[in-house]
Amino acid sequence: MIGETHAADAAELARQTERAQLFIHTALGRNAIRLHEVESFAFGVLDVLLSKGIVSNDEVSAAVERVRDETSARGEALGVGVALRVDEASAPEATVVVNCEERMPICHSICCKLDFPLTVEEVEAGGVKWDLGRPYHIRHDAEGFCTHRDRATGFCSTYGSRPGICRGYSCAQDTRIWKDFDRMELNTEWIEAYLQKREEPQAMAMVLYRGRPDSQEAS
Ligand code: SF4
Ligand code: SF4
Repeated sequence: MIGETHAADAAELARQTERAQLFIHTALGRNAIRLHEVESFAFGVLDVLLSKGIVSNDEVSAAVERVRDETSARGEALGVGVALRVDEASAPEATVVVNCEERMPICHSICCKLDFPLTVEEVEAGGVKWDLGRPYHIRHDAEGFCTHRDRATGFCSTYGSRPGICRGYSCAQDTRIWKDFDRMELNTEWIEAYLQKREEPQAMAMVLYRGRPDSQEAS
């Protein structure tokens, strides 16, 4: 039994490590491709404009500064694609207390399949795990449930230190989960469409180098 637990832990660790590697390589690769495209286009256009005397170096410098500021303000600057949640100063507790125990045989805590990024504070506190393949989203297991959901009971195993978004959540008004909350009728169509499939890190669909960079092409 202990051997089985260790094997499951090792398999989960391997899954997370693979996701992390895939995420890092994909993020770096996407940025490299985008950077190369932008660089080629910008230098090409600039060469033409300067050689024809259409623009001066000073005008170009001022325009570059303006575009850089605008791009950063829109959040479009190159980055590795991590997500963090920013809560209101005082995140509200759930206003409607839900009878989870009674509903558990029907919902199987399906709300714990919902996806969300953690806040900086939650990441640093270390009370909950984030997905190495999609930083800094809450970590889900291979079935798509939050890794902190107790598989045997369906309840949260880190209830005291659960993220603020879980504290503020109530499924009572969530029509994605319940078609009819009072009659305990699940919205199986939405759940099937959005919670049964997990978004996986994407492997790059492109090869950056054909052959080893240091290899000599046969002549
Ligand atoms: S909050 Fe709602 S969906 Fe989540 S475990 Fe409780 S009853 Fe089920
Ligand atoms: S931290 Fe707890 S309440 Fe929040 S999604 Fe995970 S198991 Fe559910």
